[in-house]
Order: sequence, then structure tokens, then C-alpha cells
Amino acid sequence: MQNCLFCQIINKQTSADIVYEDDGFIAFKDIHPKAPFHLLIVPKKHIDSVNHLEQKDKDLMGGLILTAQKIAKKNNLTGYKLLINVGREGGQIIDHLHMHLLAGRVIEKSEVMEKL
Ligand code: 5GP
Ligand code: ZN
Repeated sequence: MQNCLFCQIINKQTSADIVYEDDGFIAFKDIHPKAPFHLLIVPKKHIDSVNHLEQKDKDLMGGLILTAQKIAKKNNLTGYKLLINVGREGGQIIDHLHMHLLAGRVIEKSEVMEKL
């Protein structure tokens, strides 16, 4: 997708602080972190949102969570939050499916809902 920011980061047309990459996923630091440790984990395949997932994306979604687990382990995180915003009313501003990995302080649920 040409005018998708995350596709541009995946294709290295836009810079980002990339901390992990493999064939299927890329993870980089959120430009406006809401916690001391705040990464975005992004499948390389462009899917607009959770609302656009299909049956064939089951493995991709499993891979997304396992990628988060792998990154958390590498960074010695024992506790963290995984969050996916869905749609504008759900706080999604970038229309390329992604998961937030947040850690470093206790973030109250209501606070996360307000800030993300
Ligand atoms: P969403 O609200 O769609 O779930 O999350 C999008 C996230 O992308 C936000 O937390 C926002 O701070 C982050 N973001 C927006 N633009 C950029 C950018 O250009 N680079 C990086 N690294 N993060 C961005
Ligand atoms: Zn995209």
C-alpha cells in the first residue's frame, strides 16, 4: 500500500527505530510512547485492521502474539500489555494492523483507553 505509513516503514521508505524484524513481522518504537517501553509490532502483510481479518490470517495472528512474546523475552520483560486498537472509535489511527507492546509502569486500563 503506497500511502500507508507502516508499509513505508516496512519497505524502508520511511525511517523508524526498528528493534526486531523477520520475514513476517517488524517491530519499532512508537514515536509518541505511552509507557517507558512502547513498541509497535506490525505484520508485513497489509491488513487494515482486526475487522479485516479472514480465516486464512489465523497463523498470522498467532505469529503476531508469539513475536510479542519473543521480543518481551529478549528484553527481559516479565509483565507487559498487548493492545490492538480497532477502528477510529477504538482508537486506531493507522490503518495497518498492529499490536502495541507496553511495559515499564502500571498502566490503568481506563488510562490506556484514554491515551491510545
Ligand atoms: P493506533 O492508535 O493506530 O493503534 O497506533 C498508532 C501508533 O503509531 C500511535 O501510538 C502513534 O504514536 C504511532 N505513530 C504514528 N506515527 C508514527 C511514526 O511516524 N513513527 C512511529 N514510530 N510511530 C508512529
Ligand atoms: Zn500498510
